[in-house]
Amino acid sequence: MRFANLAGRLVVLHGERAVDVGAASSLFDRWDVLTSTDWSRHEAGPVDPALLGPPIVSPRQIFAVGLNYGARADEGGLPDQTPVVFTKFASCLTGAHAVIDLPTPTVDWEIELVAVMGERGQVAGFMVGQDLTERREQFRGAVPQFSLAKSHPGFGPTGPWLVTPDELDDADDLELICAVNGEVVQQARTSELIVPVPALVARLSAQLTLLPGDLIFTGTPGGVGHHRNPPRYLAPGDVLTSSITGLGTQSVTFR
Ligand code: ZN
Repeated sequence: MRFANLAGRLVVLHGERAVDVGAASSLFDRWDVLTSTDWSRHEAGPVDPALLGPPIVSPRQIFAVGLNYGARADEGGLPDQTPVVFTKFASCLTGAHAVIDLPTPTVDWEIELVAVMGERGQVAGFMVGQDLTERREQFRGAVPQFSLAKSHPGFGPTGPWLVTPDELDDADDLELICAVNGEVVQQARTSELIVPVPALVARLSAQLTLLPGDLIFTGTPGGVGHHRNPPRYLAPGDVLTSSITGLGTQSVTFR
């Protein structure tokens, strides 16, 4: 199944159309009922992409993983190390077709597979995500300032939808493609993850309690702007397009 947040309402997608099933915040209150109901006979309406909000509105915890692809770890200068885990704050979440304000001229892209936790450590679904990052602040101090630099308003575009695992042939081998104004800047497969999703869940669960609706940004592959020569960042007017096999495409614009 595919769930989306359409103007604050939780909807189930059928092809290009949507069935309204409640408030956007109610997904995990009623997960078993929502996923076991046949919504195909319910009245469906059109989807205006501009009205798509983040599929998970207020996760209690957002984890993000750094340097979890070989090529990215190499360009970040930290090959073969255990991936670092940090957080993004929930106020940065936005929808798949958002217009995002650039706080500085040094904002970078990071396409990522986002895993959404369900009950009892199960993965409820997956989404396309962007772990947008303000690089100057991230690296300004003596130690990297990941969480703040990655949590400006709009720095967490997610969606267009949450896709349940049964919709995917193989969640461990999906293609990710990120493009700036149509030019491909990142292209990889989730099979290249150093720590794949089941191991990330196990690792986090060993130290803390994962809650329904929690998000795990699983890391970005090589090709970010910061490590180019010269570095390249997002500019006003740029359109950032991010696609993952089976999870749809998001397209955000910067100003
Ligand atoms: Zn990231």
